[in-house]
Amino acid sequence: MSLAAYAVLDLDALKHNLAKVREYAPNAKVMAVIKANAYGHGLFRIAEALQDAEVFAVARVDEAIRLRQDGIRNRIAVLEGFSCVEELNDILHYDLEVVIHAEHQLKLLKDVKSEKSFSAWLKLDTGMNRLGFDQVMFDQAYQQLQYSNVIEKPINLMTHLANADDLEDTKTREQLELFYESVKSYSGELSIANSAGILGWPDALSDWVRPGLMLYGISPFSGKMGAEFGLRPVMSLHSKIIATKQLKLGDTVGYGGQWRCQKPTLMGVIAIGYADGYPRNAEQETPVLVNGIRVSLIGRVSMDMITVDLTDCPDTQPGDPVILWGKDLPVEEIAACADTIPYTLLCGITQRVQIVEQDGQKS
Ligand SMILES: *Cc1c(COP(=O)(O)O)cnc(C)c1O
Repeated sequence: MSLAAYAVLDLDALKHNLAKVREYAPNAKVMAVIKANAYGHGLFRIAEALQDAEVFAVARVDEAIRLRQDGIRNRIAVLEGFSCVEELNDILHYDLEVVIHAEHQLKLLKDVKSEKSFSAWLKLDTGMNRLGFDQVMFDQAYQQLQYSNVIEKPINLMTHLANADDLEDTKTREQLELFYESVKSYSGELSIANSAGILGWPDALSDWVRPGLMLYGISPFSGKMGAEFGLRPVMSLHSKIIATKQLKLGDTVGYGGQWRCQKPTLMGVIAIGYADGYPRNAEQETPVLVNGIRVSLIGRVSMDMITVDLTDCPDTQPGDPVILWGKDLPVEEIAACADTIPYTLLCGITQRVQIVEQDGQKS
């Protein structure tokens, strides 16, 4: 079958990026973050390719259960923890590890009776103000967990950085100071850094790191590309030309007729649109690679198609290959053209896009 829109995954690049994480954090163990369908790359496939990571992290209990049902037996931590007794029972049943961040979880733990036990990651809120205990409750929670039969010892200790992608921001330093101060009398292992922490804040490298985006080869810093950190993009998004058309002066293209032809222009129509996850608000002149040549988006992105100016590759034919992002066209750049961050583009790939693996091929 010939595919129209499809994503190719370079799993060698994924392994390369994991090795890079270990270069940046040589003394840390790696909790590989594969939530949200592994940032759009496919949960099971990525878990299989990242067997060297010490632990996997997902956001939710249901994501962890899916991994177990697919036969993944590695350690799995659930970053949002449990919020009801059913999820707590699932944590026990499926042998998961869990972030404990709020008082209602402590209440549920008090009442649970089980022969089984699990590892806990006790979370301190150092300024993200999303999940996590404040300093006083953190100490109380730690004491309670010490006496809980279902919690394994020692208890791991974690926090999450809010502004690590801004290297000028003083908040990260404040968060680090508060965290190290709060945990100094405890013996558990520490975990702080996401990708931006790993790449930008050496003091955030503790016993465990939690890379997400950088595993997929992408930079968390705006204006910087993954390649600047030695990373290689895992996903490239492909499609093809399905029609070309010669436009006359004054012709408009697509819904709303926003783009108007200023000189006779050869236009190409590409089979990809917002229903595939291509960003609808990509601005005019967003780059697209046609036959390896950079051309510009013109007109509005529609559900199934986009249109490009083919002035620079006049020999283009229907069927010719197109790359929307990937190795030679960083998704970081496309994100900037769509006023978003690369995370949303990767996670936003929809079910219509088939994902294929690039067979051990180095490029
Ligand atoms: C998503 C997440 C990460 C990974 O973040 P990246 O910026 O993708 O590296 C790490 N820790 C927590 C708690 C998260 O929710």
